[in-house]
Amino acid sequence: MIDKIVIANRGEIALRIQRACRLLGVRTVALHSEADRDAKYVRLADESVCIGPAQANLSYLNIPAVVSAAEVTDADAIHPGYGFLSENADFAERVEQSGFIFIGPRAETIRIMGDKVAAIRAMKESGVPCVPGSDGPLGDNDEENLRLAREIGLPIIIKASGGGGGKGMRVVHTEANLLSAISLTKAEALAAFNNGMVYMEKFLENPRHVEFQMLADEHGNTIHLGERDCSLQRRHQKVVEEAPAPGITAQQRDTIGSRCVEACKKIGYRSAGTFEFLYQDGEFYFIEMNTRVQVEHPITEMITGVDIVKQQILIAAGQTLGYKQTDINIEGHAFECRINAEDPVKFMPSPGRITQYHPAGGPGVRVDTHIFNGYIVPPYYDSMIGKLIAYGETRDEAMTRMQIALSEMVIEGIKTNIPLHQDIMTDSEFRRGGVNIHYLERKLGL
Ligand code: ADP
Repeated sequence: MIDKIVIANRGEIALRIQRACRLLGVRTVALHSEADRDAKYVRLADESVCIGPAQANLSYLNIPAVVSAAEVTDADAIHPGYGFLSENADFAERVEQSGFIFIGPRAETIRIMGDKVAAIRAMKESGVPCVPGSDGPLGDNDEENLRLAREIGLPIIIKASGGGGGKGMRVVHTEANLLSAISLTKAEALAAFNNGMVYMEKFLENPRHVEFQMLADEHGNTIHLGERDCSLQRRHQKVVEEAPAPGITAQQRDTIGSRCVEACKKIGYRSAGTFEFLYQDGEFYFIEMNTRVQVEHPITEMITGVDIVKQQILIAAGQTLGYKQTDINIEGHAFECRINAEDPVKFMPSPGRITQYHPAGGPGVRVDTHIFNGYIVPPYYDSMIGKLIAYGETRDEAMTRMQIALSEMVIEGIKTNIPLHQDIMTDSEFRRGGVNIHYLERKLGL
């Protein structure tokens, strides 16, 4: 078993991981930057190590500092959370080479899935449906690229194989713009990701974002925990998520879920992971795999009863998955609102001291946050300060619970996007279910 885990992250996910460790009787080491010294989860941990100044590249992204913290505290394993080093294959490799367990997939798996061309190839081999496209990197032959675009049919999107975070993509609507779009995206990708490989895909005009949650152990046991709909986005950032996805049938869930299971087995996937799809006109199109725990994992926990972070730890300890696919029942419905420290209209970050904090509560309500009365939201990191999750037997009940929870939630001293969430929860299209990825930006007039 694992006795001591280093939590190489901050904020709500650091606390979430700590809770799973305590549940399992595993000791914890909280790593923190100078800016996070006074965080409550740092004090709650068995040990803590300051790994550098506020700037993330000097602390949370500093691989030697993270690994040495594991060495000096004599830990067994490192949990990377999401963001920061979680999808850095070199980090995972370094962790294992230094004799620690990386709580996530093998480094080679992270590397393959981080290369979108390789990921799509692996998915196709397992029968996971992908977006019609170039099936590989684009070469320098202009004629050939033009022929490909015609065959796929405009509009198309040029994407960087090494891209991430919504960067390195360009939509092409007319043939006249194709060749310049390819060379521009290549140049940008080379500068931003040190990898100029780009590929071409059909551009889907009005898709929804639907993703499947996976769990796999080291022994070849793999299951899916159904899907989530994360279509409500602003600038490619998810704002509200729900599970299950409205209108997805049990048969669709079984079909796509089992293809994802096959793909995990084929690539030797281990730990929690997510297959992201665009969903349009009843069809699923794979876009990428996230090889880590997701921000929105709690809504899946609410509808399946499976503690995903606990499972990650047990899997890392070499245990056999305690569930078979037939043990997984999707029951009820859950929503998650990401609470950001930002202006609800202009979206400017709003760091500072929280002068009043009263969390929501009651049946079916879960608040995942590290904030407290008097906590100072530092200006250096992502503006997400917590997540409000509401469960109901039906989608309507979950939505009503979310409205009640939002009205109870008091966070003063800083601005938050709670008013935006209140607006979303009363939006008639959203309430009907199944809006596409452009809906929120159009509603906001962006
Ligand atoms: P990243 O790794 O940068 O997040 P993704 O491949 O996940 O890149 O794409 C990010 C977003 O870009 C998607 O959520 C979707 O909004 C849009 N997108 C990507 N591929 C397509 C496509 N083929 N058609 C339409 N939109 C797309």
